Amino acid sequence: MKNTILMMAALSGGMAMAEENMKSNIALVIHGGAGTIKKENLSDEQEQNIKTALQQALDAGYQALADGQDATAGVIAAIKILEDSPYFNAGHGAVFTKPGKHELDASIMRGSDLDAGAVAGVAYTKNPILAAEQVMLNSPHVMLAGSGADTFSKTRGLEQVENSYFDTEFRRKAWQEVDAKTRAKQAETASSDDVLAAEFKFGTVGAVALDKNGHIAAGTSTGGMTYKAWGRVGDSPVIGAGTYADDRSCGISATGHGEFFIRYTVASDICARVRYKNIGIEQAADEVIHQELKSVGGDGGVIGLDPKGNIIMTFNTTGMYRGYKKAEKSEVLIYGDE
Ligand code: ASP
Repeated sequence: MKNTILMMAALSGGMAMAEENMKSNIALVIHGGAGTIKKENLSDEQEQNIKTALQQALDAGYQALADGQDATAGVIAAIKILEDSPYFNAGHGAVFTKPGKHELDASIMRGSDLDAGAVAGVAYTKNPILAAEQVMLNSPHVMLAGSGADTFSKTRGLEQVENSYFDTEFRRKAWQEVDAKTRAKQAETASSDDVLAAEFKFGTVGAVALDKNGHIAAGTSTGGMTYKAWGRVGDSPVIGAGTYADDRSCGISATGHGEFFIRYTVASDICARVRYKNIGIEQAADEVIHQELKSVGGDGGVIGLDPKGNIIMTFNTTGMYRGYKKAEKSEVLIYGDE
């Protein structure tokens, strides 16, 4: 009897320890855009505000994971905070399109079963990442675009706002600068250089999470690129380009010049390298971001993690707003040389 009790106590102690070990594997990594981000271009106040928002997003996402919620919940909790913050090009604070409006893109993917959801060009849904989640959970489709996507999110009960809700003075100024340059050139739409000069100040947001059951999820949300025209859709809502998650390899969220990220299927390429070449996530991201993309002028970066909780934050620009949180360590960073 005594032996049985002792054995049971040892067993339950062992199980509790195993559960603790599992829990300590939870991890979250986020980004708030990559680009020409230099210390001399940011005031101390801007830097502090951005870091605070990134920290809040990390804390919210990590808390969801620590509470035992799944990886998608961690991703959504983090991204929602960044969408609501005016400092990032997603949700409130999104860039302006050529006609001076906002069209937002977002996606989410689950590594346990490769299910995914995305919206492109929504104009009235307050939190596009929630719409992407609804597409994944409550529709037979992977991507919905334009007014149909807004209608769907409304029928799912998501909060709708006026398009002007996404306005910020900072983004309007960037739009005006590109507009003036484009008109002076009498061009139909802005050149890549003019767009990038405006765009690469603050960017897209994303998160990748590992939950206590070892499942990965990744999500990305953006206003796209300043002065985008004709219903342009970037990489962020494109599964495989801006977002990818597969428990067999890794989860990735990207930010940068979307046209390159689509053509080089950046997010899924990194995961495919991990899976088929049997290399680490860091080497895979280096190969894609520093070699493939850099050699063709594709500016940007990625965040990601693998099922063991190894985290990467890899970029070929001067900076990337970024941060991660694991049991033993947490950091929020901006510039390339930190
Ligand atoms: N990748 C986004 C897009 O092309 C922009 C960004 O990451 O800043 O729409």
